[in-house]
Amino acid sequence: MLHRHAFATPPRKRFLPRIPDARPLTPEGYLRLRRKAAGLEIRDLAVRLTGLRAALWEAGELPAGMLADGGDIVSVLVMLEAPGVRARMRETLDAIAAVMPFDADVYQQLADADPRRHPRVCRGCGTSTHDHDMPRWATATSCTRCDPAGDGL
Ligand SMILES: [Zn+2]
Repeated sequence: MLHRHAFATPPRKRFLPRIPDARPLTPEGYLRLRRKAAGLEIRDLAVRLTGLRAALWEAGELPAGMLADGGDIVSVLVMLEAPGVRARMRETLDAIAAVMPFDADVYQQLADADPRRHPRVCRGCGTSTHDHDMPRWATATSCTRCDPAGDGL
């Protein structure tokens, strides 16, 4: 015997349009958010990167990216946080990611992808969907750590 269900087919919902962020996050803005969320000044981050460079030398590995030329890391970091500046080498981003919570892929997506394809990033702390310690979203652009009440901080 066939069981006939009397449920009405729900009307199909229309796709919600993806609303592009009116002010897309820049890669330099993401770098700054992550650095500040880690409680680091630029000079603190430079100290960590200098340590990484020394460790690579000791391990017999040639540093790459910003660590390669032996130059002033502080000035490179200041430049990387300047408006419109993009890291040219992936190794530079990987070096930063090795010494503080920072996602090189998020940076590259923000730099290269259409804003409609940008990853969701908290404007308070720079945490993104990809981070393992991602808290819940309070608003479209804020995590619950930065905006516990979800009232659009
Ligand atoms: Zn946050």
